[in-house]
Amino acid sequence: MKRIFKIIFVSLLVFVSINNVYAKVSDKTTLKDLKEKLKKDEQELNKVINKQNQTKANIKSAQKEMDKIAKQITDYEKSIEESKEKVLELENEIKVKEKEIDNLLNFKQKADKDNIYLEYVFESKSLTDFIYRSAVVEQITKYNDELIESMSNLIDENKKEQEKLNKKIDESEDTIDDLNEMLVKYNLTMDDLVDDHKDAKAEYEASKKEVAAYEKLYKQYNCKETTSILDCVSVPYADGFVRPLKAGTITSEYGLRYHPTLHYYRMHNGIDIGTAMNTTVYSAAAGIVSKIVTVANPNKKNSSCGGNKVYVKHRVNGKEYTSVYMHLHSISVKLNQYVTITSVIGKSGGGESYDYCTTGPHLHFGIMKGSAYQNPRNYVSFPAKGKRFTSRW
Ligand SMILES: [Zn+2]
Repeated sequence: MKRIFKIIFVSLLVFVSINNVYAKVSDKTTLKDLKEKLKKDEQELNKVINKQNQTKANIKSAQKEMDKIAKQITDYEKSIEESKEKVLELENEIKVKEKEIDNLLNFKQKADKDNIYLEYVFESKSLTDFIYRSAVVEQITKYNDELIESMSNLIDENKKEQEKLNKKIDESEDTIDDLNEMLVKYNLTMDDLVDDHKDAKAEYEASKKEVAAYEKLYKQYNCKETTSILDCVSVPYADGFVRPLKAGTITSEYGLRYHPTLHYYRMHNGIDIGTAMNTTVYSAAAGIVSKIVTVANPNKKNSSCGGNKVYVKHRVNGKEYTSVYMHLHSISVKLNQYVTITSVIGKSGGGESYDYCTTGPHLHFGIMKGSAYQNPRNYVSFPAKGKRFTSRW
């Protein structure tokens, strides 16, 4: 009897787990939902525009002071970078000198122990030879002293440079305090300086276009407004792609490159956007989450290339595309979830040790047409390498 129960229990367990694997988490978002969201977006947009108009006047009167402080901050940033480079250079020089001294001291110790110097001097064949040999020994000792002195000079210089660097950092922090004080004076916040208005308007226009496109598709496929998008059109429609981050700096291009951590040439099938850890990552277009890859063991060092990844399938101009998001610190979407450009895919990562294909915090963003990787620059407008963007459009 016990055995039978055991068999039933085990087969039930197998059945449940098989079902879980194949169960399709179908997203129920409908055209009606999209229309309601659009209405809310419009109200939100009006709020943003109103607030923007209020702050615009304040920004205008603060502009002159703000420009001055902003320039100061940029100058500090540049000079801090220069100082850091100088310190690094000095540290390298000290390392080289250290090694040289080490080698010389090793030789000298051995020479002293074996009385090589004395032997060398006493083996002089003539007075001239004696003077010459003494000079050689003196020269070696002198060279060593000089090395030690120049190294202590380098260490002094490095110490001074470090102090300068710390002073510059303190001063730049003071300048940021000045900026904050000035903002308070003009009734502004740091957030007011970011042009949210531009993104809010573009976001609303994109949603409007999306709803119009679905209205057309729903008519074409004879669907009811309350039918889910996935049931009606299977792969969601998108007008095109936008940047997956609100701000970032392009750090690496698509194409063949010498891989920074693997140390060989390989195809880089996306574009790298440098951004702090835990930056919000958005879907680059409306679509359906088609694949999620999570790191098998985050505690194991170097256990994955690309870390946590999300793939989103789109239909743009009648063709199927997939956008790819790699090195994610966390994932906010589920498989088969319907997403729009305002949907949060997750938070950026790239600084993790389990991901051996990353050198630091960034988002790797790729676009596939069918199953072939494309240069994302052909679909999304990104600034030149090394340049920063501050809007998704
Ligand atoms: Zn990359």
